[in-house]
Amino acid sequence: MTTPAPYSEAAENELVIVGEYRQSGRKIKMHATAAGALQNLMIQARAVGITIIPISGFRAVEYQASLFQKAVMKHGSEEAAARWVARPGSSEHHTGLAIDLGDEKKPDCDVEQSFEATSSFHWLEINASRFGFELSFPRNNQRGINYEPWHWRFIGTPEAKQIFQT
Ligand SMILES: [Zn+2]
Repeated sequence: MTTPAPYSEAAENELVIVGEYRQSGRKIKMHATAAGALQNLMIQARAVGITIIPISGFRAVEYQASLFQKAVMKHGSEEAAARWVARPGSSEHHTGLAIDLGDEKKPDCDVEQSFEATSSFHWLEINASRFGFELSFPRNNQRGINYEPWHWRFIGTPEAKQIFQT
């Protein structure tokens, strides 16, 4: 397994709200660079009946630390946890350029591999690149992270692309 890249945390004034999570009302933020592209993607999808929604965007390093700690408890070791949850400082979510997406009609598939069977995922596979988004963790990815069909990152500008170059 390769060492996860460190990512710097987006500043508060670079973030904009792109929605709220339907299960909790929690506000979801993204870097302003990517937010417009995401809104555009969701509007275009909706025009053909595909209801893509945001689930989780920007995450502070501190918040990631609490998520990682929960994963260590669940999976038994830091190594096992790291396949499921990025270590604090190494999550693409810190940049504000990564977004977890779901299907409004399929809440059971939120952040589950079953999301790949939804019409939203099929639409994203074909169309996300037009809006500058790519899947971060396809099956059998080099980084040793489990397959995450819900997790997309924005590489639609040279600056954004540079951040994710490994
Ligand atoms: Zn994610």
